[in-house]
Amino acid sequence: MSKLQEVLTIGRYFRSKFGETIYKVPISISGFTCPNIDGTVAKGGCSFCENDSFSPNLQEKKTKFKLHPTTVENPYLDNQLQQLEMQFNATKKVLQNKFGAKKFIVYFQSFTNTYAPLETLKALYSRALEFDNVIGLSIGTRTDCMTDEILDYLVELSKDKEIWVEYGIQSFYNETLDKINRGDSSENMRHWIMRTKEKGLKVCGHLIYGLPGEDQEMMLDTLNQTVELDVDSIKFHPLYVVKNTLLTNEYKKGEFTPISEDLYIDTVVKSIKAMPENISVQRVTAGINDDTLLSPSWCKNKHQQIQKIKKALLKVGLKY
Ligand code: SF4
Repeated sequence: MSKLQEVLTIGRYFRSKFGETIYKVPISISGFTCPNIDGTVAKGGCSFCENDSFSPNLQEKKTKFKLHPTTVENPYLDNQLQQLEMQFNATKKVLQNKFGAKKFIVYFQSFTNTYAPLETLKALYSRALEFDNVIGLSIGTRTDCMTDEILDYLVELSKDKEIWVEYGIQSFYNETLDKINRGDSSENMRHWIMRTKEKGLKVCGHLIYGLPGEDQEMMLDTLNQTVELDVDSIKFHPLYVVKNTLLTNEYKKGEFTPISEDLYIDTVVKSIKAMPENISVQRVTAGINDDTLLSPSWCKNKHQQIQKIKKALLKVGLKY
């Protein structure tokens, strides 16, 4: 029997680099938004994004204060620093109790985490790195919200910490990006991913499979183009329809059909098989187990999907 080849998961990558498991702590800081929501590049956000534009209740619950890179003073910074500390400590405790977690990466996950004045970013990032046993940061953002100043600051931090930039790519097809109201272009994405890599920072690319009008050939082409940019890691995500999004309307009008589970799994397996061994896989799927999910129903059970993907990978000789 031929030997199975291990997929370089992000867990394996961290264990080989740091000698132990590293846990990512997701953080969501209120006051952050996105140029695709506040009208700077578009309104309403990406068609699949659940944001304040479509959820009046969400809007009421959240602060009205929104950051912009040109904001001169951030009166909300102390509150944001408190949120950061509280969220980090709460999740850290859970991870310690459940898994005996010792080392952490603070993951700025929600919205666009470089869409703020540099001074605000410096305050948040540096505070996060001061927390006990934090070995680095992972910053989720869009390529049109990156600047050389931010990159240079991250390079400074990366001298003794593990710094990752997570860019939402989704697709390298401009016609698809238009369809999902992405407000960014493949040319711009390429430019900033290359720039981030040139500076020596680690890049994780997020891809979505099942975007409107895309067949498997297009999805795999986006994967190839991402790999060619020499990213360090990739996250795969199926496109599902969540209530209160632009995509809901398209789905209800019959203009959008979600990807089937079989096609999604087949595309992810082909992608992982085609990836060079040095690029890690950070996520193979996503799901949402509540009544905000409209379709497809197979996206309800993420755990089951992961098991199916693992099984399909084994069939092609890969151990996830
Ligand atoms: S870039 Fe992210 S936060 Fe902004 S609209 Fe798209 S999905 Fe939402």
